[in-house]
Amino acid sequence: AFRALVLRQQEKKTLSAFEQLTIDDLPAGEVLVRVSHSSLNYKDGLAITGTGKIVRNFPHVPGIDLAGVVEHSDSPDFQPGDAVLVTGQGMGERFWGGHAQYARLPAPILTPLPDGLSAARAMAIGTAGFTAMLCVLAIEKHGVTPADGPVLVTGAAGGVGSVATLLLSKMGYAVSAVTGRVAEQGDFLRRLGASEILPREELARECKPLESERWAAAVDAVGGQTLATILAQSRYEGIVTAVGLAGGMDLPTTVFPFILRGVTLRGVDSVMCPAPLRNQAWARLAQDLDMTQLDALTHTIGFDQLPAQAQAIIAGQTRGRVVVEIN
Ligand code: NAP
Repeated sequence: AFRALVLRQQEKKTLSAFEQLTIDDLPAGEVLVRVSHSSLNYKDGLAITGTGKIVRNFPHVPGIDLAGVVEHSDSPDFQPGDAVLVTGQGMGERFWGGHAQYARLPAPILTPLPDGLSAARAMAIGTAGFTAMLCVLAIEKHGVTPADGPVLVTGAAGGVGSVATLLLSKMGYAVSAVTGRVAEQGDFLRRLGASEILPREELARECKPLESERWAAAVDAVGGQTLATILAQSRYEGIVTAVGLAGGMDLPTTVFPFILRGVTLRGVDSVMCPAPLRNQAWARLAQDLDMTQLDALTHTIGFDQLPAQAQAIIAGQTRGRVVVEIN
């Protein structure tokens, strides 16, 4: 028997509890992985607390990220003993995820752990860090260089935001970090390389269709009015990567940033991200990310603490990335 966090639904309410499962309880799949580490993303918080409609079928094991070692494989692509990781691709949503000591998964969603990256650090990156890198790649592809002007990062003290701040500042961009926690997290964000800290209210307010041009690029984890203000303040031919909805799913904008300034609104999705881009992003993360700085933005918790931390991430009280030690 092994330990799993199991979500069940009772009168439309999601209940979470640790349960003992056996390998036979796991859904069918080609590869059995002994999970060593997982992580906590905003989406996991939504699933575990039942705040968002993330889980398709109950009972369910959450966890959109996992790292571990292959224990059994019916796929020629993986052998027992291989170190692997999974982020997204329906895990922890459509099928059971990483918040359990074992997971049985379809082989195509597994990625070999990149050389030189530990399972713990792979999970410190996790979906949030992987998504931050997808944003960086999109900004690079758009041709934005540090000379073009400052880059804005919202939800900066969160998972996506803190890794984006770290990556972009290391690459030489002047990063303006937006946070609702200037007093508590301002120093943290400066240590990650932010050159300017802006309070959340500066963007989460009604904006004009166009405002003074400021941002050459942006990584937005917040959405809603914040995203509308970023678009109105984007520089000519700038790019805004939209990844999240921590501040709302609406978008009260106009066409002016697009038709008068050629601004690009670039959606970024980590879940169904195709394999070539997925591999490129992991290779760049293993190569470019400062591991000491990654450790500094990571908080490691025991499996027992996961339900309480899930509440905390939805309340906007966690900082950086949360790694969960599963085994
Ligand atoms: P997280 O660690 O909780 O970070 C979110 C941050 O947003 C918080 O730390 C907070 O930062 C800020 N925030 C929270 N509530 C807010 C509000 N009401 N208004 C404005 N800002 C608020 O979550 P995460 O895992 O980094 O994910 C961030 C967002 O990206 C989520 O919406 C998530 O679903 C989304 N996401 C999408 C993808 C994708 O594939 N598209 C992948 C990963 C994540 P401050 O305290 O610094 O303000």
